[in-house]
Amino acid sequence: MSASRKITIVGGGQSGLQLGCALLGHGYEVDIIQNRSADEIRNGKILSSQCMFDAALQNERDIGLNFWDGECPTVDSINFCVPAPDGSGKALDWNGKLDKPAQSVDQRVKIPRWMEEFSRRGGNLSIHDAGIDDLEAYAKNSDLVIVAAGKGDIARLFERDPEKSPFDKPQRALALTYVHGMQPRPDHSAVNFNLIPTVGEYFVFPALTASGPCEIMVFEGIPGGPMDCWKDVTSPEAHLARSEWVLETFLPWEAERCRDISLTDANGVLSGAFAPTVRKPIGRLPSGALVLGMADAVCLNDPITGQGSNNASKAAKAYLDAILAQEDRPFDAAFMQGAFDNYWAYAQFVVGWTNALLQPPPPHVLNIMGSAQAFPALAKRIANGFNDPRDFFPWFAVPEEADAYLQKLAA
Ligand SMILES: Cc1cc2nc3c(=O)[nH]c(=O)nc-3n(C[C@H](O)[C@H](O)[C@H](O)COP(=O)(O)OP(=O)(O)OC[C@H]3O[C@@H](n4cnc5c(N)ncnc54)[C@H](O)[C@@H]3O)c2cc1C
Repeated sequence: MSASRKITIVGGGQSGLQLGCALLGHGYEVDIIQNRSADEIRNGKILSSQCMFDAALQNERDIGLNFWDGECPTVDSINFCVPAPDGSGKALDWNGKLDKPAQSVDQRVKIPRWMEEFSRRGGNLSIHDAGIDDLEAYAKNSDLVIVAAGKGDIARLFERDPEKSPFDKPQRALALTYVHGMQPRPDHSAVNFNLIPTVGEYFVFPALTASGPCEIMVFEGIPGGPMDCWKDVTSPEAHLARSEWVLETFLPWEAERCRDISLTDANGVLSGAFAPTVRKPIGRLPSGALVLGMADAVCLNDPITGQGSNNASKAAKAYLDAILAQEDRPFDAAFMQGAFDNYWAYAQFVVGWTNALLQPPPPHVLNIMGSAQAFPALAKRIANGFNDPRDFFPWFAVPEEADAYLQKLAA
């Protein structure tokens, strides 16, 4: 690779900073344009619940961005619960151990630290809200422009791909609550995932925030249902109270853990909704110049399976590999499509699995989730599927495959 190759990345979040830092290590000149300063992010609202599994964490370790391994609590398992319809307790409750732990570092802690690290390694970081005119300028002075702006408006430059996007509106009313003081689970930590039929999902897991270890509560309410309950909430205190109300109403065993909780900080709350959307990866600017979309900007999933940051890490790694393999050849449309296709070969399974979980479960999925209580090997396989959702296919998607697999387990 000639020393002069320059790559501009718009958006300094999980994928943009990870790719930027990796490229610096290979001798590229890298500019990152980020629309919020480190202080604005640090002192702003929470952005995500960002639970990341081992393969995604490994990409960070490989480039020395794992600054919190000693202090971030580990997530050791996935626990799955369904309340009994008559309110008498749990209809289902099983736990699958992860082969290697997951972890969640508050992006308000992680991103400012990574911004600093990117600059320290020689990257050029500008704080600016990039628009189309800026992209034109970057395209003129860079060999490649990547848009990694997450849910930012500029991602609309990429055309929605209707074949890969089955939904045109939000499938869940989302809310996050970061708390201290939650009673830990017995045995080992977990993503405690509770599925309340016709109401939505609630999951909770340990994480690291600015004030130390905390617990992140994630609410996924089916639109129009009782957990779609955040629009009239106007203060952090009211948000916490509403979070507690959901648990007391639907999940008493989770409410029990929350007798002494308090918000980590007044910005430790979030609510909103968005439609899961896959976009075409190449954006054409008015001049005809092309830019390449990465991670959420072109492949935005509902958080129900907790895959967004994992995908972002894997997209950054896939694009890094594609850029390195391109050597001195131009970053043209064929390169861009190839880089995305390489990522999509993985991400299609994440999107398929995530979108499936947003819909009422078909009988074979009910059968799988119910059988995991009797078959620890199945519980473990489902848990570790969060690390690599390709392992869910085809048996999670195809009823005959599910039946055959369950019969094999029973035998
Ligand atoms: C409620 C919720 C819960 C979640 N829980 C999880 C979870 O448990 N596990 C998981 O893996 N993922 C989770 N995610 C998703 C995860 O946070 C994202 O998928 C991930 O951060 C995406 O990375 P990215 O690099 O694509 O974008 P981001 O990390 O969002 O970064 C994009 C950056 O671009 C900047 N930007 C935007 N527009 C511009 C512009 N015009 N110019 C310059 N900069 C711009 C933004 O400010 C931002 O810093 C959750 C998301 C939500 C909303």
